Amino acid sequence: MERTADSGTSLRIAIQKDGRLTDKTINLLEGIGLRFDDYKRSLMLQCRNFDVELLLIRDDDIPEYVQDGVCDLGFVGGNVTAETQADVTVLQGLDFGICRLSLAAPKDGKIQTIQDFQDKIIATSYPNLTRSFLEKHNVEANIVTISGAVEIAPRLQVADAICDLVSTGNTLKANGLEELEIIFESETEIIQTNKTLSPGKQKLIKKFLQRIDGHLQAERSRYIMMNAPKSAVPEIKKIIPSLKSPTVMPLADEDMAAIHTVIPIEEFWVVMEELKAAGATGIVMLPIESMIL
Ligand code: ATP
Ligand code: ZN
Repeated sequence: MERTADSGTSLRIAIQKDGRLTDKTINLLEGIGLRFDDYKRSLMLQCRNFDVELLLIRDDDIPEYVQDGVCDLGFVGGNVTAETQADVTVLQGLDFGICRLSLAAPKDGKIQTIQDFQDKIIATSYPNLTRSFLEKHNVEANIVTISGAVEIAPRLQVADAICDLVSTGNTLKANGLEELEIIFESETEIIQTNKTLSPGKQKLIKKFLQRIDGHLQAERSRYIMMNAPKSAVPEIKKIIPSLKSPTVMPLADEDMAAIHTVIPIEEFWVVMEELKAAGATGIVMLPIESMIL
């Protein structure tokens, strides 16, 4: 068990109790080596092997808990932090929970441009973000705050349009709505309190973030191995968008070499074809657990 200087004051992290972010957040925490007991049933969860305590709450409450210093860190959508206007520091985006907050209106209706929202009723769970976007465009609308099932408001004739979170757009389509304007792009983020933290906690946060960073880097990378004729090695080195110089090792067959390297995942398929054309054979790609550069 790792302990801070001010032992007994665990790093307290707020995460969503039961929603879209919960499993992904826990998977990430477990991916950096933290172990927890069954998280589905608890409100507070002590990590078994790191000085961390999780508080499982509604995502809407996370920025405020972090702002007030009840929790030191929080994992929450940027959309929620921006809407609540909490005084916190965003430390790191996490590549999941990716979505956008968009204005949408009934398809083929009267609302087509931003100006058409003038004097209309807009239903949303994000009144602050919606209002400030419209203000920026000099549009005055009547914003009605509702907490769920926003997408059915136009059909119920409670509103003319909506401003809601979209990821695939299928929900909008299913409700006869058309996405007209993206007002905020969001992903899950780690936020930190702006309250003063003890040196022990600061150290712990640094260590925690280093692990997260190593994990994210690893997730975005793949370890690739291949064999190639020695004569092809210079050409192969040119193709590989490697983090560092690749490892080149001799093989039993003196004319051949093994080449190992790490590449960004999005490059793999493009690079693989080029490597094959350059003479590489037996190309193997492996996931990486963690990496420290
Ligand atoms: P809670 O009970 O914690 O208040 P919730 O219903 O507000 O939950 P979820 O639907 O679980 O929240 O969404 C949590 C977060 O997931 C959102 O705030 C947003 O950051 C992200 N998200 C990603 N894609 C979508 C989407 N298509 N619709 C809604 N949220 C999404
Ligand atoms: Zn919520």
